[in-house]
Amino acid sequence: NRRIVLAKRPQGEPTPADFRLEEVPIAALKDGEMLLQTVYLSLDPYMRGRMSEAASYAASTELDQVMIGGTVSRIVASRNSRFKEGDLVNSFSGWQEYQVSTGMGITPLDPRIPKPSYALGVLGMPGLTAYVGTLDLGTPKAGETLVVAAATGAVGSVVGQIAKIKGLRAVGIAGGPEKCEYAVKELGFDACIDHRDANMPGLLKQACPKGIDVYFENVGGAVWDAVLPLLNTHARIPLCGLIAQYNATSLPAGPDRSSQLMATFLVKQIKVQGFIISTYYNRQAAFINDMSIWIRERRIKYREDITKGLENAPEAFMGLFKGNNFGKLLVQVSE
Ligand code: NDP
Repeated sequence: NRRIVLAKRPQGEPTPADFRLEEVPIAALKDGEMLLQTVYLSLDPYMRGRMSEAASYAASTELDQVMIGGTVSRIVASRNSRFKEGDLVNSFSGWQEYQVSTGMGITPLDPRIPKPSYALGVLGMPGLTAYVGTLDLGTPKAGETLVVAAATGAVGSVVGQIAKIKGLRAVGIAGGPEKCEYAVKELGFDACIDHRDANMPGLLKQACPKGIDVYFENVGGAVWDAVLPLLNTHARIPLCGLIAQYNATSLPAGPDRSSQLMATFLVKQIKVQGFIISTYYNRQAAFINDMSIWIRERRIKYREDITKGLENAPEAFMGLFKGNNFGKLLVQVSE
């Protein structure tokens, strides 16, 4: 069994030296156990938090332990009466080729999922995040303007398309002209701004002539600075992620602007709601129902960025923080 463990805690951006590929034997199955082979491994920004020792909503990965991660896995041997060989399941096997499991936390793939890999993306955790954040926390109303950054990524691409389904103006922010063109032409965003453009704040203002009613926050940093002055009274901010600062080792330089920020929230009566998707699994049934229909009707389009081979997972993961991925990032670990 080849697996990738956390070799070292990153200082700032993760580097190849923070990971170690190793090979270990697979234990013989006991009664009640089964052997899972990883087919797809999901790579997600939250994994950066688990590599760090800083306190968070979930425990850190210990040094020399397998990197955690959601997987779609195949049951290759089973001594568990609830599961049979050959079936595909949702698992949390992490960055490894095989895992011995008791079946705890393992669920069969929903039959409405058209492609197994979708269970890790548009019909999995990132899709649910977009659904809950946009609909439940963003409370969108037709005619309003929604802005989302990382607009072609796993979460952001779905956020913008749900906004369109609900009759809003959807404005994306993404890295580079190719991603922006895809957001508008393929995903149906009304506009998309390149965050690397020196005039990003000015372009965003032009793209939001009636201000911003819902800002789905994925990024933080310079994007947030450009959004803040454009927020309307009663704007909602589902605070989903802050990827621009996950590798930060200190606070940004410059004057402390938190008092100005609080004043804006006060006078514009802005509602900011941080959320961690594991709190919202009660929305899973409604989500799978709506999302599988939207995909079937081609109202939600979805792109995957699949790297082959477990050994390439660290490189692919590090690329998330540079915008190297174009669509939901996955590793295909086996056929
Ligand atoms: P994506 O597929 O969107 O990949 C990450 C993207 O972030 C990159 O491709 C890049 O896109 C963008 N990015 C990276 N660094 C920066 C930067 N400095 N400034 C601007 N953009 C940057 O990832 P996900 O859809 O999986 O995740 C999106 C966000 O949602 C993350 O912040 C993640 O942590 C969060 N999340 C939160 C959850 C929760 O429960 N709260 C659950 C799932 C995700 P580009 O090239 O366009 O800049």
